[in-house]
Amino acid sequence: MLKDKTAIITGAGSGIGEAIALLFARNGARVVLADLHERDAERVAARIITEGGHALPLGVDVSRPDDCEGLVRRTLRDFGRLDVAVNNAGIGGAAAPVGEYPVEEWDKVMGVNLRGVFLCMRHQLPAMHAHGGSIINMASILGKVGFPLSAAYVAAKHGVVGLTENAALEYATSGIRVNAVGPGFIRTPLLDKNLSPAQLEGIAAMHPMKRLGTAEEVAELVLWLASDKASFVTGAYFPVDGGYLAQ
Ligand code: NAP
Repeated sequence: MLKDKTAIITGAGSGIGEAIALLFARNGARVVLADLHERDAERVAARIITEGGHALPLGVDVSRPDDCEGLVRRTLRDFGRLDVAVNNAGIGGAAAPVGEYPVEEWDKVMGVNLRGVFLCMRHQLPAMHAHGGSIINMASILGKVGFPLSAAYVAAKHGVVGLTENAALEYATSGIRVNAVGPGFIRTPLLDKNLSPAQLEGIAAMHPMKRLGTAEEVAELVLWLASDKASFVTGAYFPVDGGYLAQ
């Protein structure tokens, strides 16, 4: 589905980003794996190369403007073009009510989860302008509804949905589609780092399907949005959430 296309995936060293990178490569894409932890990106890239694919691992902090510029510059230098970008890197942040939310944590979550998406798109959009492309921004069900004790994460993900709509409007006639994906709770290291097994069980029960999702289930939706099969789809938000938002 992505034969001869070049794709950037941020946060590709773990969880959902890793599953997207593997699925993209198996569908013919050359993938640039950007992650804060270069070694994790290298591990995923090595797996792709072993399977016969093309992968470039890079250490990138999406909250830093120079890193985002360098990510796109290196992609163009090594692969000659950019067709697809998945802005997926994200963090959870502190658990606290708004009245007690630590200011530094607010800035950190906003810096990665919202500013990071803006900084990446700021360089990806011009790189795609001449020939078109597809950008998929990783939001969350928490880009549509609140979740107690998660103010910064919820605000940042709502921001990602709005930013996605704006970019889609601005670039609709340039052949660049921009969409957002909203996973329910997905079993990845992000959840395992922040929640106990008992909490995970409680969260699974909040989904009508009574389970957590998998990174591979999110990756399938992202692959479709990245491909030309989604040629009339832009400015949209797609939940992949076991029915969570239908309640
Ligand atoms: P994950 O397993 O923690 O993977 C995310 C990767 O991105 C990690 O390697 C992480 O490093 C890295 N990263 C963090 N900050 C970064 C930065 N500034 N620059 C570059 N890379 C950075 O998380 P995941 O569950 O796959 O989540 C991926 C995306 O899906 C996030 O945007 C998340 O908000 C979203 N999402 C997840 C869920 C869920 O339930 N898992 C649900 C809805 C939406 P560290 O390990 O150091 O943080």
